[in-house]
Amino acid sequence: AKDAGRGCFAYFSEDLTLAARERIALESRLRRAIEQQDLRVFYQPQVDIISGRIIGAEALVRWQDSVEGLIPPIRFIPIAEETGLILVIGEWVLRETCRQGRQWLDAGLLPLTLAVNVSPHQFRRSDICDLVATVLSDTGFPASQLELEITESGLMDNQGNATEILNCLRGQGIRLAIDDFGTGYSSLACLKHFPLDLLKIDKSFIDDIPHLQDDMEIASTIIAMGHILGFKVLAEGVETPEQLMFLQEKGCDMYQGYIKSCPVPAEEFVELLRNQQRL
Ligand code: C2E
Ligand code: CA
Ligand code: CA
Ligand code: CA
Repeated sequence: AKDAGRGCFAYFSEDLTLAARERIALESRLRRAIEQQDLRVFYQPQVDIISGRIIGAEALVRWQDSVEGLIPPIRFIPIAEETGLILVIGEWVLRETCRQGRQWLDAGLLPLTLAVNVSPHQFRRSDICDLVATVLSDTGFPASQLELEITESGLMDNQGNATEILNCLRGQGIRLAIDDFGTGYSSLACLKHFPLDLLKIDKSFIDDIPHLQDDMEIASTIIAMGHILGFKVLAEGVETPEQLMFLQEKGCDMYQGYIKSCPVPAEEFVELLRNQQRL
């Protein structure tokens, strides 16, 4: 029986090795990266669709590894979310973005809205509202210039508390956006009651414009619906002039996408702003 037990254990551990060992290795590397301050915040412009001017930016985390180079969030956010490390990462990104935003204000740059992603794991914590208040007061960044992006699924996972948390954040004067809209299952009844400012149309609905009639209809319906609910609407992942023209025609308010710029380090973002001020 002992042998069987050992055999079983051996079999099990070998079976686990590949996927699990890689994950554990990545998790401990990620912990070290956080300690050694190897995380970076990149900024992607958010653009007013009529004037074409940059009016804000989304803060997007990167991992600057000494061996592998720049590691994209898709490689480590899911693991961070599972292990709870996202709480540390999310707080760091929030703090760093507010610090940077304050510095830009002090340097005389025009006020911008800076958008920070809040993961479902962070959003489930009832202390998120206190945390944000603390970071704003520590950094001196104005609440009115901070926007928090919560995914549609993050909101729906937590319907009981969501309204309460959103109201608490909104009460501080922070702006709220629903991210990846169209990929979750929110009901209109819920949406109507959430105190939101902005609805971000998921990139997957933009990609095939102007080739897929269905996606064009979905995108224009989301724009119209967002406006009826009293929200501004931003399209994500705009890459072509055709997509931009379509969205302009449909009355979309803002966009983000490679057609303007991919996410860039802070210094490059400032360059983009300075170029536009010279125009
Ligand atoms: P997201 O919040 O939907 O962010 C938008 C993603 O779309 C970014 O990818 C951005 O680089 C990409 N993107 C924007 N415009 C275009 C375009 O025109 N074409 C293409 N192909 N892509 C475009 P990124 O930076 O790799 O981030 C991926 C995801 O990782 C984010 O999706 C978000 O879910 C997550 N993430 C990134 N930073 C953070 C963070 O600080 N906290 C949390 N919780 N999640 C984060
Ligand atoms: Ca986002
Ligand atoms: Ca998104
Ligand atoms: Ca997305």
